[in-house]
Amino acid sequence: MIRASELVTVFVDADNTLWDTDRVFASTQLRLLHDVEESLGLTWPDEDRLQFVRAADQELASLHHDGLRYPPALLVRALSLALDGMDPVRAAKIALHGSEPAKIYADQEGVILNRYFQSLKALPQLKKGVADGLRQMKELNWNILMVTESAVTRARETADALSISQFFDRVLEGRKRPELYQRILKLVGSPSNAYMIGDQIDRDIAPAKQAGLKTIYFPGGFKPRWHDEEASPPPDFVISDFREAVQIIRLEHAC
Ligand SMILES: [Mg+2]
Repeated sequence: MIRASELVTVFVDADNTLWDTDRVFASTQLRLLHDVEESLGLTWPDEDRLQFVRAADQELASLHHDGLRYPPALLVRALSLALDGMDPVRAAKIALHGSEPAKIYADQEGVILNRYFQSLKALPQLKKGVADGLRQMKELNWNILMVTESAVTRARETADALSISQFFDRVLEGRKRPELYQRILKLVGSPSNAYMIGDQIDRDIAPAKQAGLKTIYFPGGFKPRWHDEEASPPPDFVISDFREAVQIIRLEHAC
């Protein structure tokens, strides 16, 4: 019989680990750029439109106290300044300080923002091997815990819509600090056989490693500009398909 202390516990990050949130963000940001262009009658000529939006977006996120959750009206204002010829990074700073009058009328800005929020509600796609990998983990009776820094209700809704919610024993919301992992490990009673699978070295891998978990890095498309990967401890494993995590853990435990 397997003792509780031998049970495998797997923490899995949600956004960009289970599903491709970044792709939804990218298409939403491109739509926003298109809407701002239409309002102003101006067009960004360069081919890399996403890079243009993200230059302003990353500057706003790095300066705003809410980080990536800064109000998107700021991005509308930054892009309208940048489309008018200002460098996008400088445009983001000016938009944040509100030192230039808005180029788009408030009602038009409201329409653009409504479309932005609607577009963000699109269902993301599962990342490679996720449904199969979770099914295999469940068949092995592993404890599977989803951990997210966004709202639990949103994560549950997405997991339901993608038909993977039945694989999770719990969905946890909280800042991914080492204390979070330690607290949950006490509840599940398997500190020596615990793993964290995530797409961000600084948020998923580093704190989990600090808490004594083995770490599996499943890179996503989005890397914040301000994050220095070299400065973080390396993950124990790197995968490019979620099913590889099952193989890794099985080899470690000979199960
Ligand atoms: Mg993530």
